[in-house]
Amino acid sequence: MRKAVSLILAGSMVFALASCAKTSESAEPLKSHPEAFTEASVQYEKPKAGLDYFVLVNKTNKLPDDWEEILETVTVINSVGDTVEVEKQTYDAYLLLKEDLEKNDGIYLELDSGRRTVAEQQDIMDRFIEKYGADYAAKTVAQPGYSEHHTGLAIDLYFKLKDDDGNFTDVYYNEDMVQYPEIWEKIHAKLADYGFILRYLEEREHITGYGYEPWHLRYIGIVDTAKEIMAQDITLEEYLGVVKSIPVTVELGESGLYTTEELSDAIVQIKCKFAYWEGCELHAIRYAGDDANNKENLAWLNSLNEGSDYKELMKFVIDFHTPADAADNWEPDHEYTDYEFWLVRNEKGGWDIISYGKG
Ligand SMILES: [Zn+2]
Repeated sequence: MRKAVSLILAGSMVFALASCAKTSESAEPLKSHPEAFTEASVQYEKPKAGLDYFVLVNKTNKLPDDWEEILETVTVINSVGDTVEVEKQTYDAYLLLKEDLEKNDGIYLELDSGRRTVAEQQDIMDRFIEKYGADYAAKTVAQPGYSEHHTGLAIDLYFKLKDDDGNFTDVYYNEDMVQYPEIWEKIHAKLADYGFILRYLEEREHITGYGYEPWHLRYIGIVDTAKEIMAQDITLEEYLGVVKSIPVTVELGESGLYTTEELSDAIVQIKCKFAYWEGCELHAIRYAGDDANNKENLAWLNSLNEGSDYKELMKFVIDFHTPADAADNWEPDHEYTDYEFWLVRNEKGGWDIISYGKG
């Protein structure tokens, strides 16, 4: 993601990519222990000292408390003049990747962003709470402590194109970068050779909590493991065994109101929300049909947010399974079916989750 503004408003800025870095209002993550519902697929030992290059930081796994004390970083300035901080070993590996791509593929990588401290994220959160209130802040600002960028092991790339006269042009904005799938393909093919993996894969939003991001790399340090993860096309969560790889059935049905693209964007939002429900397994998502977009339902959704004037809605239902030690109001080890998700069209043309629950 680029720049402070797009960082904190990522959900709306990159709507065209169906990304979902934002959280939503009533987001109360389920409290549970991941080991209760799945066994690790790998024998993985946390190092006794130093950085754990396999550390998992996502919407339900916080940055370890001592991380910032032991982290060593380097700071560089990129081609657009921004300062980027990256973990030392990660930066060395990035330089090798960059050199390889320049020499052999004519692709010129740049670092868009690297490490953000928890304190920086907290500052952003505090400013938003003061200015817009806690509800809005919770919806638009990533929770401090729960971003992989805190680790220093995650980097966002952009690249430069070289023309026949040897002049460079930055390809910098997300919406521009996605216009070059063939360049990303070449970059992705070499990541594992230098200990990197692609972190946010397509169709895995319910596991990672993020939409597809071709530019977001994660350094794990071990080339063989990186190759294994990339070859299997799995997420770090799946590799570490904290979630099972279970196919999700998606049924869009027929809609005279919405395009497949619009319905798919709404599904990405739902899956990103689902990633907070620790220990739950998503089985199916179904579009509930155009009939739900009626006056009565719109009036109900508008009544949930004072001053709102939503004009279009979508209803989906999902099937999912809770873990054996599910907390709060959830029934443990239970298959919930036809659990409802209600979304409305926002000012940017995308879809926001307004309500969810058992109908
Ligand atoms: Zn990123």
